[in-house]
Amino acid sequence: MSARRPESWESRGRRAPDALGAASAGSESPAGSRVHNSIMMRRPSLMQEPVLVLNATYEPINVTAVRRAMVLLLKGVAQAEEMHNSEVHSAAHAHRVPSVIRLLAYRHIPQQSRALSRKNILFRDRNTCQFCGAVFASSELTLDHVVPRSRGGRSSWENLVACCYRCNNSKGDRTPEEAGLKLARRPRPFTLHTSRQLMRLIGHRDERWRKYLFY
Ligand SMILES: [Zn+2]
Repeated sequence: MSARRPESWESRGRRAPDALGAASAGSESPAGSRVHNSIMMRRPSLMQEPVLVLNATYEPINVTAVRRAMVLLLKGVAQAEEMHNSEVHSAAHAHRVPSVIRLLAYRHIPQQSRALSRKNILFRDRNTCQFCGAVFASSELTLDHVVPRSRGGRSSWENLVACCYRCNNSKGDRTPEEAGLKLARRPRPFTLHTSRQLMRLIGHRDERWRKYLFY
Protein backbone atom coordinates (compact mmCIF):
# COMPACT_ATOMS: atom_id res chain seq x y z
CA MET A 1 0.00 0.00 0.00
CA SER A 2 1.39 3.39 -0.91
CA ALA A 3 1.92 6.02 1.74
CA ARG A 4 0.80 8.86 -0.48
CA ARG A 5 -1.57 11.30 1.13
CA PRO A 6 -2.99 14.69 0.30
CA GLU A 7 -0.69 17.58 1.26
CA SER A 8 -3.42 19.26 3.24
CA TRP A 9 -3.35 16.48 5.83
CA GLU A 10 0.24 17.34 6.62
CA SER A 11 -0.23 21.07 6.83
CA ARG A 12 -3.45 20.78 8.82
CA GLY A 13 -1.74 18.44 11.25
CA ARG A 14 0.66 21.22 12.24
CA ARG A 15 -1.88 23.00 14.40
CA ALA A 16 -0.27 24.09 17.66
CA PRO A 17 -1.50 22.10 20.67
CA ASP A 18 -2.11 25.30 22.66
CA ALA A 19 -4.61 26.40 20.05
CA LEU A 20 -6.93 23.62 21.22
CA GLY A 21 -10.07 24.95 22.74
CA ALA A 22 -9.43 28.41 21.37
CA ALA A 23 -12.47 30.20 20.03
CA SER A 24 -12.48 28.84 16.52
CA ALA A 25 -15.87 30.35 15.89
CA GLY A 26 -14.04 33.64 15.57
CA SER A 27 -15.57 36.80 16.94
CA GLU A 28 -19.13 35.60 16.64
CA SER A 29 -21.36 35.48 19.70
CA PRO A 30 -21.84 31.91 20.92
CA ALA A 31 -25.64 31.78 20.81
CA GLY A 32 -28.49 31.96 18.39
CA SER A 33 -29.47 30.25 15.20
CA ARG A 34 -27.96 33.03 13.11
CA VAL A 35 -24.57 32.00 14.45
CA HIS A 36 -25.40 28.36 13.90
CA ASN A 37 -26.33 29.08 10.31
CA SER A 38 -23.29 31.17 9.61
CA ILE A 39 -20.99 28.56 11.13
CA MET A 40 -22.62 25.81 9.15
CA MET A 41 -22.31 27.88 6.03
CA ARG A 42 -18.70 28.75 6.61
CA ARG A 43 -17.85 25.22 7.73
CA PRO A 44 -20.24 23.06 5.73
CA SER A 45 -17.99 20.06 6.16
CA LEU A 46 -17.52 20.34 9.93
CA MET A 47 -20.15 17.70 10.69
CA GLN A 48 -18.35 15.36 8.31
CA GLU A 49 -14.92 15.85 9.89
CA PRO A 50 -13.40 12.56 11.02
CA VAL A 51 -13.53 11.55 14.69
CA LEU A 52 -11.40 8.74 16.08
CA VAL A 53 -13.40 6.13 18.00
CA LEU A 54 -11.66 4.26 20.82
CA ASN A 55 -12.87 1.12 22.50
CA ALA A 56 -13.43 1.25 26.26
CA THR A 57 -9.83 0.02 26.53
CA TYR A 58 -8.51 3.05 24.54
CA GLU A 59 -7.79 0.82 21.56
CA PRO A 60 -8.56 2.71 18.33
CA ILE A 61 -11.28 0.86 16.48
CA ASN A 62 -12.90 3.15 13.98
CA VAL A 63 -13.20 6.54 12.37
CA THR A 64 -16.59 8.16 12.23
CA ALA A 65 -17.95 11.60 11.34
CA VAL A 66 -18.56 14.42 13.83
CA ARG A 67 -22.32 14.07 13.34
CA ARG A 68 -22.35 10.39 14.32
CA ALA A 69 -19.87 10.93 17.17
CA MET A 70 -22.06 13.64 18.69
CA VAL A 71 -25.05 11.30 18.59
CA LEU A 72 -23.03 8.69 20.50
CA LEU A 73 -22.09 11.33 23.10
CA LEU A 74 -25.66 12.53 23.50
CA LYS A 75 -26.89 8.96 23.89
CA GLY A 76 -24.34 8.40 26.64
CA VAL A 77 -22.73 5.53 24.74
CA ALA A 78 -19.37 7.29 24.48
CA GLN A 79 -17.46 10.08 26.15
CA ALA A 80 -15.24 12.69 24.55
CA GLU A 81 -11.52 12.22 25.13
CA GLU A 82 -10.24 15.05 22.93
CA MET A 83 -12.06 18.06 21.59
CA HIS A 84 -11.89 19.75 18.24
CA ASN A 85 -11.30 23.50 18.42
CA SER A 86 -14.74 24.17 16.97
CA GLU A 87 -18.29 24.33 18.24
CA VAL A 88 -21.67 23.66 16.73
CA HIS A 89 -24.72 25.47 17.98
CA SER A 90 -28.23 24.18 18.41
CA ALA A 91 -31.08 26.49 19.33
CA ALA A 92 -30.19 26.58 23.03
CA HIS A 93 -26.69 25.17 23.40
CA ALA A 94 -23.18 25.35 22.07
CA HIS A 95 -21.69 21.90 21.66
CA ARG A 96 -17.98 21.46 21.48
CA VAL A 97 -17.02 19.16 18.65
CA PRO A 98 -15.17 15.97 19.59
CA SER A 99 -11.98 14.86 17.89
CA VAL A 100 -11.56 11.57 19.79
CA ILE A 101 -14.33 9.68 21.59
CA ARG A 102 -14.24 6.51 23.69
CA LEU A 103 -16.99 3.92 24.02
CA LEU A 104 -18.04 3.44 27.64
CA ALA A 105 -18.78 -0.28 27.23
CA TYR A 106 -16.21 -2.63 25.70
CA ARG A 107 -17.17 -3.74 22.22
CA HIS A 108 -15.84 -6.96 20.76
CA ILE A 109 -14.52 -6.22 17.27
CA PRO A 110 -14.38 -9.20 14.91
CA GLN A 111 -11.39 -9.31 12.58
CA GLN A 112 -13.50 -8.27 9.60
CA SER A 113 -16.06 -5.97 11.05
CA ARG A 114 -16.40 -3.56 8.18
CA ALA A 115 -19.69 -3.58 6.36
CA LEU A 116 -19.43 -3.61 2.59
CA SER A 117 -20.66 -0.13 1.74
CA ARG A 118 -19.91 2.65 -0.67
CA LYS A 119 -18.53 4.75 2.19
CA ASN A 120 -16.16 2.01 3.35
CA ILE A 121 -14.93 1.24 -0.16
CA LEU A 122 -14.13 4.91 -0.76
CA PHE A 123 -12.44 4.93 2.65
CA ARG A 124 -10.40 1.81 1.84
CA ASP A 125 -9.36 3.28 -1.51
CA ARG A 126 -8.71 6.65 0.14
CA ASN A 127 -10.97 8.48 -2.30
CA THR A 128 -8.53 7.59 -5.05
CA CYS A 129 -9.78 6.45 -8.44
CA GLN A 130 -8.24 3.01 -8.77
CA PHE A 131 -7.76 3.45 -12.51
CA CYS A 132 -6.31 6.95 -12.99
CA GLY A 133 -4.91 7.37 -9.47
CA ALA A 134 -6.40 10.84 -8.90
CA VAL A 135 -7.93 11.82 -5.55
CA PHE A 136 -11.54 13.03 -5.64
CA ALA A 137 -14.29 14.25 -3.31
CA SER A 138 -16.67 11.41 -2.42
CA SER A 139 -19.39 13.00 -4.52
CA GLU A 140 -17.15 12.78 -7.58
CA LEU A 141 -16.53 9.07 -7.22
CA THR A 142 -18.61 6.07 -8.06
CA LEU A 143 -18.09 2.37 -7.43
CA ASP A 144 -16.89 0.23 -10.30
CA HIS A 145 -17.41 -3.51 -10.58
CA VAL A 146 -13.97 -4.61 -11.82
CA VAL A 147 -15.56 -7.64 -13.47
CA PRO A 148 -18.87 -6.18 -14.69
CA ARG A 149 -22.05 -7.52 -13.18
CA SER A 150 -23.18 -8.52 -16.66
CA ARG A 151 -20.22 -10.94 -16.67
CA GLY A 152 -21.06 -12.39 -13.30
CA GLY A 153 -18.92 -9.97 -11.29
CA ARG A 154 -20.06 -9.87 -7.68
CA SER A 155 -20.60 -6.95 -5.35
CA SER A 156 -17.74 -7.82 -3.03
CA TRP A 157 -14.69 -6.21 -1.46
CA GLU A 158 -12.56 -7.94 -4.12
CA ASN A 159 -14.63 -6.73 -7.07
CA LEU A 160 -15.62 -3.17 -6.12
CA VAL A 161 -13.28 -0.19 -6.36
CA ALA A 162 -13.50 3.59 -6.13
CA CYS A 163 -13.64 5.03 -9.63
CA CYS A 164 -14.04 8.53 -11.07
CA TYR A 165 -16.90 9.09 -13.50
CA ARG A 166 -14.53 9.63 -16.39
CA CYS A 167 -12.77 6.29 -15.94
CA ASN A 168 -16.10 4.61 -15.21
CA ASN A 169 -17.50 5.89 -18.51
CA SER A 170 -14.48 4.89 -20.53
CA LYS A 171 -14.43 1.42 -18.96
CA GLY A 172 -18.11 0.83 -19.59
CA ASP A 173 -19.25 -2.77 -19.47
CA ARG A 174 -15.76 -4.18 -19.95
CA THR A 175 -13.04 -5.70 -17.83
CA PRO A 176 -10.00 -3.47 -17.11
CA GLU A 177 -7.94 -5.52 -19.60
CA GLU A 178 -10.49 -5.05 -22.36
CA ALA A 179 -10.69 -1.31 -21.64
CA GLY A 180 -6.92 -0.91 -21.50
CA LEU A 181 -7.07 0.17 -17.84
CA LYS A 182 -4.92 -1.04 -14.99
CA LEU A 183 -5.94 -1.28 -11.33
CA ALA A 184 -3.76 0.74 -8.95
CA ARG A 185 -3.81 -2.24 -6.59
CA ARG A 186 -5.71 -5.41 -6.04
CA PRO A 187 -8.86 -4.70 -4.04
CA ARG A 188 -8.94 -6.48 -0.70
CA PRO A 189 -11.39 -6.85 2.13
CA PHE A 190 -11.27 -4.13 4.74
CA THR A 191 -9.61 -5.75 7.73
CA LEU A 192 -8.79 -4.25 11.09
CA HIS A 193 -5.20 -4.05 9.84
CA THR A 194 -6.26 -1.93 6.85
CA SER A 195 -8.37 0.10 9.20
CA ARG A 196 -5.41 0.81 11.53
CA GLN A 197 -3.22 1.90 8.63
CA LEU A 198 -5.89 4.30 7.44
CA MET A 199 -6.51 5.64 10.94
CA ARG A 200 -2.78 6.41 11.15
CA LEU A 201 -2.79 8.16 7.79
CA ILE A 202 -5.76 10.27 8.79
CA GLY A 203 -4.21 10.76 12.23
CA HIS A 204 -1.39 12.77 10.70
CA ARG A 205 -3.79 15.66 10.26
CA ASP A 206 -4.83 15.78 13.89
CA GLU A 207 -2.28 16.05 16.70
CA ARG A 208 -4.91 14.93 19.18
CA TRP A 209 -5.12 11.49 17.59
CA ARG A 210 -1.45 10.75 17.79
CA LYS A 211 -1.15 9.45 21.32
CA TYR A 212 -3.84 6.86 20.57
CA LEU A 213 -2.44 5.76 17.21
CA PHE A 214 1.34 5.97 17.38
CA TYR A 215 2.59 3.70 20.08
ZN1 LIG B 1 -10.23 7.87 -12.86
